[in-house]
Amino acid sequence: MCNMGCQHLEELYELWLLGALSERGSLDLREHMARGCPHCLAGIREATETVYLLGLASKPARPHPRVKSELLRQISRKAPPHR
Ligand SMILES: [Zn+2]
Repeated sequence: MCNMGCQHLEELYELWLLGALSERGSLDLREHMARGCPHCLAGIREATETVYLLGLASKPARPHPRVKSELLRQISRKAPPHR
């Protein structure tokens, strides 16, 4: 039922697991999962494995390029250059 509305959450799983998601974003994700969306629960499980494997594969934490660019985007959004 909620499967149509959570496509945009898929890219948040890894960020959330890495603790890189904004408070607002992680709240959205947690509320959504609290409704028991099987799609997201399965996605989180996969993302957990991905994050775990990434951690094993590269000793110095090196996020996936996509995750990294998302991180950089979030950081630059939080800290505007002029201020
Ligand atoms: Zn969902």
